[in-house]
Amino acid sequence: MNIPLIDLHAQYRELKTEIDGAMRRVLDSGVYIGGPEVEALEKEIAAQTGARFAISVANGTDALTLALEAAGIGEGDEVITTAFTFFATAEAIVRVGAVPVFADIDPVTFNLNPVDVEAKVTPRTKALLPVHIFGLPADMDALQSIAERHGLLIIEDACQAIGAEYKGRPVGALGDIGCISFFPTKNLGGYGDGGIVVTNNEGLADRIRLLCHHGSRRKYFHEEVGYNSRLDPLQAAALRVKLTKLREWNDRRREAAVRYGSLLSGLPLALPAAPADYRHVYHLYVTLTKDRDRLAVQLKRHGISTGHYYPCPLHLQQAMSSLGMKRGDLPVTEQVCERSFALPMSPHLTREQQDYIADKLKRYARG
Ligand SMILES: *Cc1c(COP(=O)(O)O)cnc(C)c1O
Repeated sequence: MNIPLIDLHAQYRELKTEIDGAMRRVLDSGVYIGGPEVEALEKEIAAQTGARFAISVANGTDALTLALEAAGIGEGDEVITTAFTFFATAEAIVRVGAVPVFADIDPVTFNLNPVDVEAKVTPRTKALLPVHIFGLPADMDALQSIAERHGLLIIEDACQAIGAEYKGRPVGALGDIGCISFFPTKNLGGYGDGGIVVTNNEGLADRIRLLCHHGSRRKYFHEEVGYNSRLDPLQAAALRVKLTKLREWNDRRREAAVRYGSLLSGLPLALPAAPADYRHVYHLYVTLTKDRDRLAVQLKRHGISTGHYYPCPLHLQQAMSSLGMKRGDLPVTEQVCERSFALPMSPHLTREQQDYIADKLKRYARG
């Protein structure tokens, strides 16, 4: 049996007629930048996240960069974030001229440890940038109270977590600005790059909209130097179709996670755990094991693809060497990176596939 880590084509097959129709509608309309599909998607994502404003952009990395820049973060400022994330989180901070300051993570949730976050606040700190890693919300109440005590902004990297909820509220609009990616593998993924910024703050929304259209409100008149960062209507049209399935598909991921939980109990794998009032949407199903590399080779032999998220934490990346951090500086992050082992997860993972994966894992555990 061949089991991919994420089955993207299965998503297309389920919605092929609707997606093809939506794409054709755009092609027939003659509108290939902006227009009604993009505006409708922005309204729908605002409603989904409970935010007043949503501004679509070219990708999740731009969403982060524009959010930071609109918030006035730049040269000489520090932003506290996690090193256990995709590179773009810290890249955006460096891109606007600020310094990423990495705090360690919790060994169970893999999200920022608020105690270490507070220890890293300095007079230069301007914002906290939590990542809802693998689809599990960060400890937002604790981060919010740190932000209030020190007068900091909170920018959420919700790129992996659309549809996740923290104490009954969707991620994205929990802090000051939320950033979401529509990269094809994300829980709401397009057929190419895409992203969106959400916020309840009208001033920030206005500034982000200005920046992503070349700093221009009126065609050919420019208030400042901005970016060209837009979501294509072709992507918007496809994303609107997929958005109607987001709730159901996230529920299917959650059911698959429960099923893994019962199939894999007793094995030497630490399974992902979510606090009771958090709605985890399992962008990835990441376990921990001391034996990750051998296990990965063994499963691959049986046609099962697994993933390593992430093989190198951000503080040890070559591109971040100017920060002067070294191995041992973030012990929990480093240990999780060594042991993390992602099993196949998608809304289309079948019971038969899960049984097969569990069977191979049990055989391996028996030696
Ligand atoms: C995917 C991702 C991004 C970047 O999104 P792109 O759309 O690929 O630019 C940023 N942060 C995290 C945590 C991500 O997973």
